[in-house]
Amino acid sequence: MKRSQILVVEDNAINRQLAHDILEHAGFEVIEATSVDDGRARLREQTPQLVVMDIQIPGGGGEALLREIRADARTADLPVVAVTAFAMEGDRERLLAAGFDGYVSKPIDTLRFASTIASFLKNVEVKDE
Ligand code: MN
Repeated sequence: MKRSQILVVEDNAINRQLAHDILEHAGFEVIEATSVDDGRARLREQTPQLVVMDIQIPGGGGEALLREIRADARTADLPVVAVTAFAMEGDRERLLAAGFDGYVSKPIDTLRFASTIASFLKNVEVKDE
């Protein structure tokens, strides 16, 4: 079975590498983007099965890129999971209302991150380590 591809959109190099390593170790193919513009470009040339999206990214933020994803028929149903350092009350509801499929707060739980992300994939078996 072909590995599921996940797009990680994150501007911080350390956080991006951490998410990449964890997801790759769990068996996913990982592609990266660092901004709204970069994410848009990756989504034009690739067809990932899920997006992990930092909310604070250059070019308008993760919510702006999410709006583009939802507005494009080709990506409208793509699962998008928000990752944010904002641990403010009401954030989860705000992000889910914005159209994100799920929400993971930073710092990420390295032991559970992959299975949490995998749980948002459509029609894919979750592979435990
Ligand atoms: Mn960021």
